Amino acid sequence: MSKISRRQFNALLGAGVATIAVPMGIRAQTKPKVVVIGGGAAGATTARYLAKDSDGKIDVTLISASENYTTCFFSNLYLGDFRTLESITHSYDNLAAEGVTVKIGYAQGIDRAKKMVSMADGSSVAYDSLVVAPGIDLKYDSIEGYSEEAAEIAPHAWQAGAQTSLLKSKLDALQNGQNIVMVPPPNPYRCPPGPYERVSMMAHTLKTRGLTDSKILVIDPKPKFSKQGLFQEGWDKHYAGMVEWYGPDVHGGIQGVDVNAGTVETDLDTFEGALLNIIPGQMAGAIASEGGLTNDTGFCPIVADSMRSTEDESIYVLGDASIAGAMPKSGFSANSQAKVAAMNVRGDLLGSKVFPAKFSNTCWSLIATEDGVKVGAQYAVEDGKIASTSTFVSQTGEDEALRKTTYEESLGWYSGITKDIFG
Ligand SMILES: Cc1cc2nc3c(=O)[nH]c(=O)nc-3n(C[C@H](O)[C@H](O)[C@H](O)COP(=O)(O)OP(=O)(O)OC[C@H]3O[C@@H](n4cnc5c(N)ncnc54)[C@H](O)[C@@H]3O)c2cc1C
Repeated sequence: MSKISRRQFNALLGAGVATIAVPMGIRAQTKPKVVVIGGGAAGATTARYLAKDSDGKIDVTLISASENYTTCFFSNLYLGDFRTLESITHSYDNLAAEGVTVKIGYAQGIDRAKKMVSMADGSSVAYDSLVVAPGIDLKYDSIEGYSEEAAEIAPHAWQAGAQTSLLKSKLDALQNGQNIVMVPPPNPYRCPPGPYERVSMMAHTLKTRGLTDSKILVIDPKPKFSKQGLFQEGWDKHYAGMVEWYGPDVHGGIQGVDVNAGTVETDLDTFEGALLNIIPGQMAGAIASEGGLTNDTGFCPIVADSMRSTEDESIYVLGDASIAGAMPKSGFSANSQAKVAAMNVRGDLLGSKVFPAKFSNTCWSLIATEDGVKVGAQYAVEDGKIASTSTFVSQTGEDEALRKTTYEESLGWYSGITKDIFG
């Protein structure tokens, strides 16, 4: 990059100054190349908006580990029999039709000096700007006795696809009186209300199948959780006696799991279940640390008004892999951050106007049939950090009509956002 900053450059362009060094995309004979690693909520949205808004002037390649993408969002509704797996699985065909080059494969390294992404199959892809959106990887060793192999017996289902199907088949195989033990993850993790929506949806399945002597025992490493009052009210109302939540002040600390024995050991007691759902600690997807983009939290620091990596000005990091101030790690957040990043990438490469960053998020959760709740906020950059400017949350004691409306809103949101991400 030249000695003036990109922002100064854009300001000069806006002021009609024509004799300064032009950005790479204008200068180069060929189209500037953007490579996006990760075809989830963050990456696919960025690729789509870059292709859509650059009028063919940017060459956009999306690298995705698999041909299809199953959303974690609404995967709990699949566990509750409200959705099929097919209805939450999306292809990249529309993105390809909109001008994105979709490369299926695993990105295993970033050569920042040469601006090259190396792929597991030995090929490599050159970039002018790189967008890193790999989501999360799991810290299997954050729980004694848990591992990638153990996850085949006690699924985490915190990355959607095969793990989600495994959890569903184990849930469907339970007999009346057999228990589920869930260990939710420690902070920070993707989708703060997600584990508790999952408890609700698994309880719904047990109840509708008449397995009302079964219990869900939640052994939480955290003393409190998102929308706690709303969930606990809902569990009392819909699933009385079926859900028991224990925080660390009660269980005293999680010592480990034995997935073969079906037990979770704590200071207080040993909890036993025919189904264990163990969700370990999380970090940015491996490619982020491979590329030297993470800090000691395991996630990636970014410049708040652009989602640009603090480590490399040609790289943006967004979605769950990033440290995005007050924003929770969610599909909605990832989609919102993607639009800010795409605007800034176009600013870098084409000199297009860059507006101040604004972000938003809502996390809906389904507690029981038509009993939906939500929490959300608007965000802007304050003192160099993404901060919430207004917030809202459902209230306990709301009437059924409002909860039904909230659930219907979530259905509209799902169709809208998946169209926005995948075209
Ligand atoms: C149970 C559950 C429920 C949830 N519910 C909601 C909800 O209701 N609303 C909401 O907004 N959010 C929800 N979320 C959170 C949401 O799913 C995530 O925050 C969101 O998917 C993050 O998007 P992302 O693009 O950062 O990561 P991802 O969606 O995980 O996408 C990353 C993609 O990159 C791929 N990838 C990783 N590394 C590489 C590599 N090296 N090469 C190629 N490809 C790679 C991955 O395979 C993946 O497909 C939920 C999450 C869970 C687990």
